[in-house]
This record gives sequence, structure tokens and C-alpha cells, in this order.
Amino acid sequence: MIAENLNAFRSALPDQVTLVAVSKTKPIEALKEAYDAGQLDFGENKVQELCMKAEALPKDIRWHMIGHLQRNKVKYIAPFVGLIHSVDSLRLLQEINKQAAKNNRIIDCLLQIRIADESTKFGMNYDEAILIIENEKLPNVSIKGLMGMASFTENRSQIQDEFVKLHTFYQEYRSTEQWDTLSMGMSGDFQLAIDSGSNMIRVGSRIFGARN
Ligand SMILES: *Cc1c(COP(=O)(O)O)cnc(C)c1O
Repeated sequence: MIAENLNAFRSALPDQVTLVAVSKTKPIEALKEAYDAGQLDFGENKVQELCMKAEALPKDIRWHMIGHLQRNKVKYIAPFVGLIHSVDSLRLLQEINKQAAKNNRIIDCLLQIRIADESTKFGMNYDEAILIIENEKLPNVSIKGLMGMASFTENRSQIQDEFVKLHTFYQEYRSTEQWDTLSMGMSGDFQLAIDSGSNMIRVGSRIFGARN
């Protein structure tokens, strides 16, 4: 089932779009099935679960941290994480830089921008992001672009507005900052996200089925 879903889904995606399979709450066997079907990018939102799965699964998987990340937990994922999508403050970025240095690594990161109109979603606003982009040069982190989650709403034009605005901001900095990643779009809104310029989508339930 998972393999069929995945293959059907991937064959419909444009070449420039990377699919991150969001496997949070799903058992190791489900991830293994996706891996055997050729999936190498997996996303998780909890540090403990991410570490447990990384330990159990093949080492060529690229692990994406997509959930809110507490500073005191960065050290657990710093040795192996592939891309952190959820950098929502300068203090977190500084901690990632410190832990990356300890591991002799440069960790790829995205700045998470709060594009939704809900106060519950994590992320920084555009002004905070500008300050970081224009002032912080931390040697052991590499900012690759931006991540955003649209409002949870039936209003498609609102979602589209939020995506388009994030894409516009991304384009402003893309070439000077040598960015290559705009992470936006989930099971319910990935098509809108791709049409609005996304090149990385984070899809869970469409691949693995609904979560409990
Ligand atoms: C859970 C989650 C997703 C995937 O959600 P689906 O609706 O299952 O595709 C994407 N991004 C983030 C940040 C998530 O927490």
C-alpha cells in the first residue's frame, strides 16, 4: 500500500520538487517499506522518535527535522540530521552552530517563517528573518532557504496568498544567499504550494495513511 501510494505520488511530481516523506508516529516497518520503494528523504517532528528511527534504519537516509526544536535537544540530532526545517529563532540557530562544530559538521537549515494567521504555529516573522539573513554568518550552519506552513483553512485563496508571499521573499534572497530550498506544502495543500514555487513538500498522510 505504502509503496503504491509513494510511486503514484512521486511520478506525478515535477522533477525539481523533492518529496519529504513525513513518517511521524508511523512504525519502523512503514518507513522500511517506503525506503525499499526508493524513498530517501524522511521527516519527523520529535527528537526522540527521530533518533530512534535513524538508529534502526539504513544510513543513507536523509533525516529532516520538521517540528519545533528545543535548544537543549539539538545535541541529540546534530551528529546525523540532514536538514532542519524548523529554525525559528537566532538562539536556536546559534545552538545548532555550536553542536555542529562539536561534531565537525556544517548543518543545513531552513528558517521557518510564520506565514499562517494562527498564533499556534511556530516560526519567525519576516523582519526577524531579515535580521538573521543579513547579519549572522555562523560557520557551522548553512542556511539553504525557507520553510512555511499555511493556515489551516478551507480558504484556498488565503493559503495561496501565504505561499506566494513566502515565495516572493525567498526570491529576493535566493541568488545572493545561494539558497536552493523552499519547503512548503503538505498533504492538503502541496499542489497549491508547487504552483506557488515550492521545491520541497512535506507529505505524511497521503503516503502513510491518516495518523491516530
Ligand atoms: C505533520 C507535518 C507535515 C505532514 O502533514 P500531512 O498533512 O500528514 O501531510 C508537514 N509538515 C509539518 C511541519 C508537519 O508537522
